[in-house]
Amino acid sequence: MSQFVSDFMAEVKAKNPNEPEFHQAVQEVVESLELVLDRHPKYRKFKILERIVEPERVIMFRVPWMDDRGEIHVQKGYRIEMNSAIGPYKGGLRLHPTVNLGILKFLAYEQVFKNALTTLPMGGGKGGSNFDPKGKSDNEVMRFCQSFMMELFRHIGPDTDVPAGDIGVGGREIGFLFGMYRRLRNEFTGVLTGKGLTWGGSLIRPEATGYGATYFAANMLATRSETMEGKLCLVSGSGNVAQYTVEKVNELGGKCITLSDSSGYIYDPVGIDAKKLAWVMELKNERRGRIEEYADKFKSATFTAGDPKLKFNPLWGIKADCAFPSATQNEINAKDAQNLVNNGVYVVAEGANMPTTPDGVSVFLESKILYGPGKAANAGGVATSGLEMCQNSMRYAWTREEVDAKLKSIMKNIHDNCRARAEEYGTPGNYVNGANIAGFLKVADAMIDQGLV
Ligand code: NAP
Repeated sequence: MSQFVSDFMAEVKAKNPNEPEFHQAVQEVVESLELVLDRHPKYRKFKILERIVEPERVIMFRVPWMDDRGEIHVQKGYRIEMNSAIGPYKGGLRLHPTVNLGILKFLAYEQVFKNALTTLPMGGGKGGSNFDPKGKSDNEVMRFCQSFMMELFRHIGPDTDVPAGDIGVGGREIGFLFGMYRRLRNEFTGVLTGKGLTWGGSLIRPEATGYGATYFAANMLATRSETMEGKLCLVSGSGNVAQYTVEKVNELGGKCITLSDSSGYIYDPVGIDAKKLAWVMELKNERRGRIEEYADKFKSATFTAGDPKLKFNPLWGIKADCAFPSATQNEINAKDAQNLVNNGVYVVAEGANMPTTPDGVSVFLESKILYGPGKAANAGGVATSGLEMCQNSMRYAWTREEVDAKLKSIMKNIHDNCRARAEEYGTPGNYVNGANIAGFLKVADAMIDQGLV
């Protein structure tokens, strides 16, 4: 690590103690930016790096709710409004017991660069709660979402801050949140994205992150004159991103052979075809069951329970060509990354946010595989949220084909932009540097233009 990065990180850590995921996300960006700062001293002069790591606003609040037995619970609620230099704050809400301030700050920070990459006018934000939707009834989830919105509504708005889904927040939760916002404000506006199709949602928004990650992988493969046709793919997670990754990989002629959840993973060597995927969607989105059931239903598959004593995840040791980590942060460590490379994987497109540890990223970069970091590869979700905002403003809805074509073209632009910036700054093929630099330049220039605010 250079002296500059180590001094900068010492200050970030002192100012933001006990937030390891935030430190990790900041360090990765700062390491990519040294070359930019040397070439353009104005960013140092205007202290852009120091300003960009400090959220414009952090909102923390109490979320009381009552379960079906009448017992009262109290959760923490958050919204991090990180940066609005290029547009209203935009980013998902996460409901998961691990949610804390540091995790949401890392996600909001990543979101600033990702949103800039989409070329749409969106700033960065993120929010959520340590509420665990697992095992809760629909009514409990509704009461929690209503209580959460009873505070959040005063901080958001279609031109201020537009939340969306993330882990634990899908169509059901967005519905409950939107309903309470509409009631409190007495207005029908595009204040959330990921809405239902009959009340302002965009076609393709649910599919967008998984489809986008697959388009990004296809773009990376095209640089080697290859396609997804016949590629064996490992996918982790079994939620929104994982499901639509499988759908698009199948459509492009590839074959997905794994899925997982926090209990373990399934391996289906003959592939998760459209019929099996429909079953998974019903399992996860309707019945809210565990992925283990897949191996009972489909005899070609085996289930391996997660083993907390293992220092690696055997899912990443299965022979394949491509990997789509689509569950959560830091799910691939250096050993997993090495296992992937040793077993033939040469394309990694991150559907999840920061799923690879810094040591794991080094393995990918040193191996010269095609490695698309989350900031770039999973930007299709927020890009399509941007398209939903656009349609809401126009009070008009594009067709499925129109939205998909726009998504495809945005993913190609992001890919090409990352590649061009990586090359321009002397690290050809390094999509990590490319994404960080391209995202940074857009936001940094806007911050300079708008003065010291
Ligand atoms: P989701 O629908 O809630 O699914 C999350 C999946 O990951 C579930 O299978 C879940 O298993 C698993 N998972 C979550 N936390 C885990 C943990 N600590 N250990 C092991 N497995 C875990 O969420 P999603 O929307 O697909 O999001 C997945 C990832 O994509 C996240 O990193 C998110 O930030 C990122 N992302 C999402 C979007 C989007 O549009 N939704 C956009 C960009 C990036 P369990 O059910 O057992 O917890």
